[in-house]
Amino acid sequence: MKEIKLYINGDFRTSEQSFISENPATGEPVAKVYVPSALDIDQAVDAAEEAFYSIDWKSMDKIKRAEILEKISEKIKERRNELTELEIADSGSCLRKAKADVHNAASYFKVLASQLRKFEFEIKDEGASRAGFSHNYKVYEPIGVCAQIIPWNFPLVMAAWKIGPVIAAGCTTVIKTAQETPASAFILAEILKDSGLPKGVVNIITGGPKEGEHLLKNSKVRKVAFTGSTMVGKKIMQSAGSNLQKISLELGGKSPNIILEDADLNIAVDGALYAFLYHSGQACDSGTRLLVDDKIYPTFRDALIQRIKDVKVGPPLDPNTGYGPVINKKQFDTIMNYIEISKKEGAKLLYGGDRAVGGELDRGYYVNPTLFEVTPDHTIFNEEIFGPVLAITTFKTEAEAIRLANQSIYGLAGAVWSRDHQKALKVARQLETGTVWINEYHLLNPGMPFGGYKQSGIGREMGEEGLKAYLEVKHLWVSDCDERSKKPWFDAIF
Ligand code: NAD
Repeated sequence: MKEIKLYINGDFRTSEQSFISENPATGEPVAKVYVPSALDIDQAVDAAEEAFYSIDWKSMDKIKRAEILEKISEKIKERRNELTELEIADSGSCLRKAKADVHNAASYFKVLASQLRKFEFEIKDEGASRAGFSHNYKVYEPIGVCAQIIPWNFPLVMAAWKIGPVIAAGCTTVIKTAQETPASAFILAEILKDSGLPKGVVNIITGGPKEGEHLLKNSKVRKVAFTGSTMVGKKIMQSAGSNLQKISLELGGKSPNIILEDADLNIAVDGALYAFLYHSGQACDSGTRLLVDDKIYPTFRDALIQRIKDVKVGPPLDPNTGYGPVINKKQFDTIMNYIEISKKEGAKLLYGGDRAVGGELDRGYYVNPTLFEVTPDHTIFNEEIFGPVLAITTFKTEAEAIRLANQSIYGLAGAVWSRDHQKALKVARQLETGTVWINEYHLLNPGMPFGGYKQSGIGREMGEEGLKAYLEVKHLWVSDCDERSKKPWFDAIF
């Protein structure tokens, strides 16, 4: 059986505590996974600190760091089959999603490398020389040792989004994967080592909340980057607050998907399904609140119900599967509980609402695609479920659509469907979310920032903002000696 070891200071090691991880689709064992002790975690942070100060890492030329990122990208591509297989076995991702994730992780490192080549770490103030005798510079420098924590839904991509900017910025890190899905990050550790990344720059461990909390408590950590639920994000913000650590939070969502009257129904119906069903609805940006103009609602609803019958809930390895199992029983129970709450609250069930069963499906936790008509008072209009459940609401005017869309504690993503780009843009600009698609869903561009408004997070990943999230900025003032000596202090200043 595969062994998922800890990656600390460039070495792979075991620990006293381990468990056998399970394939969510079959319940079969995937790997023996080693969980770090408190001492392992402390040693990982020590290694990250040592790497930050003792080797030439933080001052390494950006072109060399870009070359490492490019090598990582290439090696992910070389090992794509193995990574895809592991991602499927570990996370229940279906074949298409797992392939896309491996591709996206590789392309993220490549795009980041090209951004890094162009990024100016030192920018001279081109305005008039300050006080007549000085030059001023803005200098970007790495923050230092980071602690990063990721969830189970996109294990490889989440690890890439965290590790990439650490390398680009010249920081060092200890990253904790989710205990449910540690496998692909272990392969990534081998790739980092093979790509010439100096030891200790990236250390990879797994574990649950206990290990996460221990990691964050370490006073050597200067930056915390967390992706996960809003509830845990709030706790992490509190603990980071005690040492005023820099913080990035990528949290939950309840994203609105707005269908305007003039939407192209052929693409909007499929788009609405893809938005909430991708990866069994276990995506942070899932379009789980469908807002439809009531003038087209009966037609749209009927088309949605017709089309949803074509979505195959099936085993992840079947190439025709639209989506596979949810991650585990806990997540399955959460989803079924929200379905029961919705029924009790009087939401109208249009489709699904039950477990998908029969044949191979009986070995995992599969949920049928589920459609409810709701009002903003219903729980599932407001709370993130993380399952294939859609809350549908109608609106009469664009203003009402915008108001409903923004009626949420979350603000991660959203979409507008319309044939009229100007009209769609007008609506998009008024949505309080970090990403808005027009006639599209889920697609991300690694050169653009991703993150949330409101309780969906703080800061951004990817794009220039994602790199700057790992940099301190210094104002450097340089006075010329000869010029300076001509002006006494008080004359110069006042
Ligand atoms: P979670 O918050 O339960 O756990 C996330 C990670 O935090 C895991 O590694 C877990 O072990 C760790 N953790 C839990 N409690 C902790 C604590 N007290 N201290 C330190 N670490 C702790 O989330 P999840 O169930 O793994 O993932 C689903 C959530 O993640 C959803 O809410 C989803 O929207 C969100 N998510 C957000 C994004 C984004 O980019 N905004 C991306 C993916 C997932």
